[in-house]
Amino acid sequence: MSTVVIVGAGVTGMVTAMECALAGHRVTLLDRGPIPNPASTSADQHRALRVQRPGDPVLTAQMTDARKRWLGLESVLGTDFLRLVGIVTAWPADDATGEIVELPPVLFPSGTVGVLDPDAGVLLADKFLHAAAHWLAEHPAVSVRAECPVRFVADHWVSLSDGTALGADLVAVAAGPWSRDLVDVPVALFRQTMAYLRPPADLASWWETAPGVGGVGADGRAWLLPPGDGTLLKISSDAVCRKVESTAEGELETWGDWLPARPRRTGRPISESPAHPVTPPRTGRMPALPWAERLLAEPILSDMDRYTVVAVRECHYAAAPDTGGPLLLHPKPGLWVRPSCGGSGFAAAPLVANTIVEAMEATA
Ligand SMILES: Cc1cc2nc3c(=O)[nH]c(=O)nc-3n(C[C@H](O)[C@H](O)[C@H](O)COP(=O)(O)OP(=O)(O)OC[C@H]3O[C@@H](n4cnc5c(N)ncnc54)[C@H](O)[C@@H]3O)c2cc1C
Repeated sequence: MSTVVIVGAGVTGMVTAMECALAGHRVTLLDRGPIPNPASTSADQHRALRVQRPGDPVLTAQMTDARKRWLGLESVLGTDFLRLVGIVTAWPADDATGEIVELPPVLFPSGTVGVLDPDAGVLLADKFLHAAAHWLAEHPAVSVRAECPVRFVADHWVSLSDGTALGADLVAVAAGPWSRDLVDVPVALFRQTMAYLRPPADLASWWETAPGVGGVGADGRAWLLPPGDGTLLKISSDAVCRKVESTAEGELETWGDWLPARPRRTGRPISESPAHPVTPPRTGRMPALPWAERLLAEPILSDMDRYTVVAVRECHYAAAPDTGGPLLLHPKPGLWVRPSCGGSGFAAAPLVANTIVEAMEATA
């Protein structure tokens, strides 16, 4: 049995902790906030799991593996959190291969058709995080420590903010966009606006079984995740994604009634979280929010006026500055870091966990 200290209890930390415990290792999982932490990048109603990557057989094989691992995690937790509704991507009509589907409530850019990725789906992010937190808290080989900020990481050990040190065979830093506060790596930080909508009553049942959609909007960079299992319809676009220097830069555009749907283990309001200083959500009529207004003006849905905007939220993600993609680093023999996670970082978390389990085996 080897020991691992995992810094950060977002999806990367949680899945890694589960896989390490299942492989027979002793795990300490730390987060500076509650676990799960509503201020983490992972905390949200849903995240897309795309499998088919046209022209990229390696990534397609990796995401097929990730999907299989998510189904395995469902079995371990005894909870369904992967909605296999497929994802439809707008594709040039004269170049489209695969099953073409029509989705009347969705606007596809002119000259494109919707191609279905039947293996794709929607991960119910918050539902997974809460189930995993519960499983980890009950596991005899796992020590879960919330409200435990890490100040410093090094080869085989971490230093906590109270001055104590924890040693382990392996340290895994899974602190999302905040990893760069602990490890000196170049990571680009982005902020993106998302809007949560309630469909009109006459379309509610259509949306309950609808797939996710990508490649839509004015410049083909918008996407939506369908409502279902208690979640709302979420829309966003890379057109409202901008580079920021830190998660604390400027004031976040948050509005609406989305917090009650996100149960928390401790009573600390999100506005007080040191990880994510935000303006408390406001309800009533949506105030002037420039990024949200720009998003809501995107041609994503026909009859957009008939949808109720329930909430607006902003979220950060980190990416490798050169490729914009994911990054998993191994700077020291006993130190792994996932400082940046790209746009598929949630779905790919089991692949990171598997790499770290393999590193644990090598350590043993
Ligand atoms: C708008 C948007 C849409 C996205 N859509 C998708 C999608 O559809 N599909 C997909 O797969 N991915 C998507 N992603 C990416 C995905 O959400 C992230 O890649 C993923 O959630 C990152 O998880 P993580 O566990 O690595 O980091 P996080 O979830 O950010 O977790 C990091 C944790 O570390 C803790 N922490 C930080 N510093 C410290 C410290 N010093 N000490 C202790 N704890 C610390 C934090 O409190 C936090 O809980 C999206 C991201 C954004 C922003």
